[in-house]
Amino acid sequence: MGRRAIGTLMLLATLSVMGVVIIQLLWLQQASRYHREQVELNKAQASQLEKQFNDRVVMALTDVTEQILTINKDSTDLFDAVKQARPNYFAVTINDTLHPYLLEALLRKEFSRRHIDEDFEYGVYDCFTDSIVYGNYVSFDTLATDTMPHSQLLKLDKDGHYFGVYFPLRASTLWEEESGMGWTWLFPTIVTMIVFGFFAYSVWVIMRQKKLSEMKNDFIGNMTHELKTPISTIALSSEVISDPAIIQEPERLREYARIIRSENDRLRTQVERVLQLATLDKDSLRMKQERVDMHAVVREVIGSFKLGLQERRMGTVLDLEADVAIVNGDRVHLTNTLFNLVDNAVKYGRPDTNLGIRTSRRGNELLLSVKDEGIGIKREDLKHIFERFYRVPTGNVHDVKGFGLGLHYVQQVAHAHGGGVSVRSEIDKGSTFTLSLPLAQTS
Ligand code: ADP
Repeated sequence: MGRRAIGTLMLLATLSVMGVVIIQLLWLQQASRYHREQVELNKAQASQLEKQFNDRVVMALTDVTEQILTINKDSTDLFDAVKQARPNYFAVTINDTLHPYLLEALLRKEFSRRHIDEDFEYGVYDCFTDSIVYGNYVSFDTLATDTMPHSQLLKLDKDGHYFGVYFPLRASTLWEEESGMGWTWLFPTIVTMIVFGFFAYSVWVIMRQKKLSEMKNDFIGNMTHELKTPISTIALSSEVISDPAIIQEPERLREYARIIRSENDRLRTQVERVLQLATLDKDSLRMKQERVDMHAVVREVIGSFKLGLQERRMGTVLDLEADVAIVNGDRVHLTNTLFNLVDNAVKYGRPDTNLGIRTSRRGNELLLSVKDEGIGIKREDLKHIFERFYRVPTGNVHDVKGFGLGLHYVQQVAHAHGGGVSVRSEIDKGSTFTLSLPLAQTS
């Protein structure tokens, strides 16, 4: 997929996700406004209904009081007798004899006449002692309401009594409307978050794949170049030596034979690098378990770089301090690992400088470091150099070609042996790569 296609795709995907989020926000806003309006409306209706109810109760209670006074043949001066003390409680001052049985009967009659069919409790009080004289709960739901026991029928012949009517179910029905939007917004929000999460994850995967595919392309380009050069040199040299006249010039013949051999070596190294990659792709590296003397490996690897080091006029400083350097592992992979580190030190080291190899022991670990005085690595590149196909962009300044595989391989092998690799580097000063490998148990 081309850069532009990915760009367009990203743009479209971002726009659609943003669209979804905006729609979601608008929806939430609208829903909450609608909810608020609904709550306001409910409140208004509720208070309207409540007012009507209160008026009806006051009227009913006034009628009841009037009738009691009429029965008692008292004056029916009812100025301000009924008072609403709380939203669901009404007190009636009646300075007269009050019979609870009569009161309940009148209350029932007046309430049902005015369609006040809510449960209520009433109490008759003595206003001198301010204590309840009689009380009862009246329910319209059940037919058999508490009938008044006759023993309790007190003949209240003293004046100065008042009664109160209380509607226990009212508060809960009218005042419970105040609630938030609830959790209705939660589900769509979670869905949007999940969509958003998937989108972010896909972008991340696409970017990673894109980077990897760019690196792979670089790798193929490099590899083609690396393989083509020795092949064409070999082709040219073999053409020269197939000329019969060359027999007359044995020096030239030997020179061309040497070129063919060294180019062949180069080809072999390159092919081995690619093969290393193939080994890594087989998910887990299969490591043999043999006793490997890393000091011997160091000498062997340095030996194979003799020519390369000479060409770049580089010296070697060996500092093999570790008292034991035997590790359990795979000789071939361990040799390749050190080979890659030394190869880099030669490639990226400066001519006329030294390359140092040092071993030391840290507890049960062998530390093996390869130090060069070369171009160094920038801090921001350091964290990537162990990634597969990663090459520092300026890595080609000295026309040094590579595949970006060497260090990845080093790290994989070190991990497979239960060890690791670390790097310290300063730009233009040089780099030190340190391998740590668990030492073999001495038996
Ligand atoms: P390459 O084949 O490119 O050398 P490596 O995986 O061995 O691949 O190294 C990755 C990158 O790390 C290289 O491209 C190079 O830029 C940087 N690098 C590795 N070793 C050194 C070193 N000793 N000095 C400076 N840069 C180095």
